Amino acid sequence: MARLVALENIRNIGVMAHIDAGKTTTTERILYYTGVTRRLGEVDEGSATMDWMAEEQERGITITSAATTCYWNERRINIIDTPGHVDFTIEVERALRVLDGAIAIFDGVAGVEPQSETVWNQADKFGIPRLAFINKMDRPGADFFRSIESMRVKLRTKPLAIQIPLGQEEDFRGVVDLITMRAWAYEENTLGARYEQIEIPDHLRDTAERYREHILETVADQNETLLEDYVAGREISCEAIKGAVRQATLSRIIVPVLCGSAFKNKGIQPLLDAVVEYLPSPKDVPPVLGQNMEGREEARPAEDDQPLTALAFKIMADPYAGNLTYFRVYSGRVRKGSYVYNASRQQPERLGRLLKMHANNREDIEEVYSGDIFAAVGLKHTKTGDTICDETSPIVLESIQTPSPVLSVAVESHSKEDREKLGRALQRLAMEDPSFQVRTDVESGQTIIGGMGELHLEVLMERLRREFRVDTKVGRPEVAYRETLTRAVEGEGKFVKQTGGHGQYGHVKLRVGPGTPGERFRFVNAVVGGRVPNQFVSAVEKGVLEAMDRGILAGYPMVDLEVTLFDGSYHEVDSSELAFKIAASLGFKDAAKRALPVLLEPLMSLDVLVPEDYLGEVIGDLNSRRGKILSIDSQNGTHVLASEVPLAEMFGYATDLRSKTQGRATFTMRFCRYGPVPKQIDQELVSKRA
Ligand code: GDP
Repeated sequence: MARLVALENIRNIGVMAHIDAGKTTTTERILYYTGVTRRLGEVDEGSATMDWMAEEQERGITITSAATTCYWNERRINIIDTPGHVDFTIEVERALRVLDGAIAIFDGVAGVEPQSETVWNQADKFGIPRLAFINKMDRPGADFFRSIESMRVKLRTKPLAIQIPLGQEEDFRGVVDLITMRAWAYEENTLGARYEQIEIPDHLRDTAERYREHILETVADQNETLLEDYVAGREISCEAIKGAVRQATLSRIIVPVLCGSAFKNKGIQPLLDAVVEYLPSPKDVPPVLGQNMEGREEARPAEDDQPLTALAFKIMADPYAGNLTYFRVYSGRVRKGSYVYNASRQQPERLGRLLKMHANNREDIEEVYSGDIFAAVGLKHTKTGDTICDETSPIVLESIQTPSPVLSVAVESHSKEDREKLGRALQRLAMEDPSFQVRTDVESGQTIIGGMGELHLEVLMERLRREFRVDTKVGRPEVAYRETLTRAVEGEGKFVKQTGGHGQYGHVKLRVGPGTPGERFRFVNAVVGGRVPNQFVSAVEKGVLEAMDRGILAGYPMVDLEVTLFDGSYHEVDSSELAFKIAASLGFKDAAKRALPVLLEPLMSLDVLVPEDYLGEVIGDLNSRRGKILSIDSQNGTHVLASEVPLAEMFGYATDLRSKTQGRATFTMRFCRYGPVPKQIDQELVSKRA
């Protein structure tokens, strides 16, 4: 079977936005207009379209699928769900990992908000080309040009307006396309289904000319031939302009900016045109890289006759199909029912059914091809971040980075009957969300869950109640402290035991000290002359790791260390792996005690949006929580306060902030890094644990 959609006609995109900027509304409209193109063919009647939409609205289209496929101008668009909540870092990262381009939505009144900056920077990290959509142009106070300016200043990007609004606030009627120099005026009360192309009204002519000139300058700057035409004053065709804008977008030199009102159904069709026109197809992005079995880097170009390479980016429990595993196929093709190889876990898997998820239905498909996104049913071992491939040419793509939980809490079911249900539900949630962990405390036998913050755990508890119908009691949340060392010292460990027959002999000298922050552990073998024989070196590493897990100050796991094995001795008969493991553990503890150990605590990035009247109060409160104010930005009487605060001081912040500001301030908070605990608190914690 041949592929139905050519590779260059596929777009894998995400919609990213600050909460409330209109991501859901815009996505719904996109699904509506794309779903409807086929329906309009059946019933060539505007009102039928509207009925369908009204009905859908009543039921509330739920876009909970991890990826939804739709079609526009014979192009296939896979929309990958990108959460609006930046607190859920892992969710954002995994979406960014598999998409090729994105629409960034901004609120036309607020412009760039703090959260938009965070997601924007994450997208920069992944090198993702973007379009910007300035939404809510119908709202009082909406200002297209000010929003563009805020992109330039706050995101340090080069926005290029390819539209300007036709009217604004309550008179917002549509958009002016600066490339074709025509306006799209929407007819009211047709849910955006009817619009006509009209001449640009006289009062907008000058502005439109001026902004078109920007486009011409920009494209001339990109392209030798266009530069000559531009300088000579020759007409540049729309096709040539679009081609150059596309190139500049893909190279991330510019960000084309469009506008509209998702809520009032204006500007969505031109936005879809722009997705197709300017965002990359899988062919336009560099081939994915992975490690083959020899440990060498290998590129897999997006071609169907290459070996299969696909990345599992999300696992979701589905009420009808069981577990759905979502994949991005980077190269090759695969039929349903095939056996494939999970190279990350070195296990064979079978792809039972293959599905494409649409807004309101799912479609069984026979085969999937390079560059596409699909969901598979029937996988048993595959987890988020795993690579599946042809067994004959295994490769492991870089996995999706999963942060370790920074907060944990004990959970308990109300009744005995619920206990099993709770266990199963927690396992399910942990499978979907790798930044959520479940374990049993060996001492107390309690079930402990860990996550990325209070909100993260609250949302999960809420899902337990709603989706799994399990009521739970939760204990006091505990911060996940860590320990580290601040100075490098040498230590020695010797384990010698003379018994009747076989004795034990292990002896090591270690240099132990701080490593690279964020890199948990690095082990260096610098032994010369076989003084510690090679077959015992990995036992030494194991012994160190086990000692690190138990900590040295207060029993918290140790991180960011470099340990060098530089000397030691052995015994021909008595030396064993066990003896060296114990010697290493003793040597590590000996050194670590003298290496100035400190406690580390999770520090959170906190952004608070607060009106003038409450600014002082909010700052004072943050100071009392050991917060560090990083910047204060002001716009229209509202301040954006960026700060770094210890998670340990932030329990119940949502409630406190609400009561201190009468509900007029909002905040977002996400894990940022581990930092040292101040001395006196450090001692308190240590004596408490002792
Ligand atoms: P999300 O949090 O980014 O998904 O935002 P939503 O799509 O849920 O929108 C947040 C709120 O803004 C809702 O009340 C929407 O009705 C409203 N909204 C979205 N788009 C527009 C728009 O274009 N104009 C106006 N006036 N309101 C909008």
